[in-house]
Amino acid sequence: MQVPLLDLKAQYQTIKDECLQVTEDIYESQYFILGPVVEKLENEIAQYCSTKYAVGVSSGTDALLLSLMAANIGHGDRVITTPYTFFATAGAVSRVGAIPVFVDIEADTYNISPAKIDAAIKEMSEEVRKTLKAIIPVHLYGQCADMDEVSRIAKDNNLVVIEDAAQAIGSEYHGQRAGSLSDFGCFSFFPSKNLGGFGDGGIVTTNSEDQYENLKILRVHGGHPKYYHSQIGGNFRLDALQAAIVSIKLKYLDQWTKSRQENAQMYNSLIIEAGLSNKVTVPFEKENRHIYNQFIVQVPEKRDELKEFLINNQVGCEIYYPVPLHLQKCFSGLGYSTGDFPVSEFAADHTLALPVYPELRKEQIEYIVDQIKQFYA
Ligand SMILES: *Cc1c(COP(=O)(O)O)cnc(C)c1O
Repeated sequence: MQVPLLDLKAQYQTIKDECLQVTEDIYESQYFILGPVVEKLENEIAQYCSTKYAVGVSSGTDALLLSLMAANIGHGDRVITTPYTFFATAGAVSRVGAIPVFVDIEADTYNISPAKIDAAIKEMSEEVRKTLKAIIPVHLYGQCADMDEVSRIAKDNNLVVIEDAAQAIGSEYHGQRAGSLSDFGCFSFFPSKNLGGFGDGGIVTTNSEDQYENLKILRVHGGHPKYYHSQIGGNFRLDALQAAIVSIKLKYLDQWTKSRQENAQMYNSLIIEAGLSNKVTVPFEKENRHIYNQFIVQVPEKRDELKEFLINNQVGCEIYYPVPLHLQKCFSGLGYSTGDFPVSEFAADHTLALPVYPELRKEQIEYIVDQIKQFYA
């Protein structure tokens, strides 16, 4: 049986007619960049995330970059974030000239540890502490970070908080939506995210009217009015084709999320039934609502061999992420070394993403668990 890690072709078949129709409408209108279709999506996303505003942008990476620019974070500033995330989180910090300060994660959720943020700030010299400007928690795999604690630390230390919610559209923390829990929420419409376009795209959510206006100005090179620049922004625009597709998919997102959650539940019971609980640790659901952008298992033994075995048996799986950011070559100048963040390093060596996409069938999950059982037999 073949089970890909993600099957976007199956999803496309269910929305094909709608997509072709809006695409044709946009071709006829020849209105491609920003405009009414993008504004419609911005309103829909703001409503979905329970925020006052949303600003469509060119990617999740640019959502982070634009938020940092809007928060006036730049050369010599420091930003606390996790080393166990997709590269863009810390890449954006460096691109504005600021310095990423890594803080290790919680072993059960893989999200940044507030206790370790506290400890890291306490350890800073007064001089370094003065350069600390922001925290970027990442809602990894679709589950929110511990935002009450992050917000408390931010408040105590006068820091901006930017949520990297690229994997977490619709996730909730204590009943509140990802993207509504801080100054800026950054989302990605990369095709493999739960709400993906037919290309690159992203969006920033905020409750601040001032920042809403600011984000819109910075998105178009900082020109306000057009051709008059009191700030240097960039081209961070979202296009109408992507917005239209994302708008269509948004209508189905809750239904797809429910299927992902059911698939996760099915893995959980099948893994117990198969007697694999001592070999495979399923995700810890600390926060309702986990949207399962990824279903990550932890395997203490032979992770790489298991991955190879599954791939040889037609099961798509992947390691997110094999190298924590503090050990990336481009960050060697920051002075970190192996052993600095043991929880992240352990996760990088012992976790594996299994298929969890909404169109996955029960037989396919049974097959995957059966393959894992055969591997450990
Ligand atoms: C995907 C992702 C991004 C970047 O989004 P793009 O749209 O690909 O630029 C940033 N952070 C995290 C955690 C992501 O998963």
